[in-house]
Amino acid sequence: MLIGLLGGTFDPVHIGHLHVAKSLLKELPFDEIRLLPCYKPVHRPEPKASPEERLAMLKLACKNLEKITVDEHEIKRAGNSYMIDTLRELTHENPQHHFCLILGKDAFDGFHLWHQWENILNYCHLVIVTRPNTSIEYPDILKSFIQQFSTPDITDFIKSPSGKIFFCSIPPLDISATQLRSQLAQKNYDTNIIPAAICNYIQVHKLYL
Ligand code: ATP
Repeated sequence: MLIGLLGGTFDPVHIGHLHVAKSLLKELPFDEIRLLPCYKPVHRPEPKASPEERLAMLKLACKNLEKITVDEHEIKRAGNSYMIDTLRELTHENPQHHFCLILGKDAFDGFHLWHQWENILNYCHLVIVTRPNTSIEYPDILKSFIQQFSTPDITDFIKSPSGKIFFCSIPPLDISATQLRSQLAQKNYDTNIIPAAICNYIQVHKLYL
């Protein structure tokens, strides 16, 4: 099976995240794309909502979606969420699956700051998707990494179990959780940006006020 992993804080999940997953299901032959919430992010402040609340919202978001699921590994492991640890667990539990770590371009720009980043391609492929309002440049340290491992050829990418980087252009959807949290703080609940069930959850649990 080819499994996509979209890691993030999901504070809260929004239609931008679902748009990434849905667009990639059209572009690549994924059997499943898992939204993977971290317990505690390492390179940014703690999320406003608790791990349990972020997980509950993700489950609501994925409830009726085909091939888009939630992965609870990092929430269950607790502590600092290092992606390399998660990938080691996943590949150990499912040696027959091929994993692709999906990153928006903004997240990829900080990839070299991740714990043991140079080992990550031993366990998975990387799929980098375009995101509005992000630089088209890459940090210098990533340029040779990209040159060494990227491939424009989907067949080449799919037939190897790990170790490739594939860049994928998706239709732009300019939504971020940061922007959303400031709207929610004003009690602006826009179901065009967050699914109605999650709007309801946020109101009932008085989140982001
Ligand atoms: P915040 O504004 O709090 O940083 P976010 O909207 O970026 O949150 P995250 O949970 O941090 O959401 O993102 C998880 C992953 O989804 C990251 O790789 C990010 O680049 C990607 N992503 C989120 N929204 C979009 C979008 N609208 N288009 C493309 N990629 C996105």
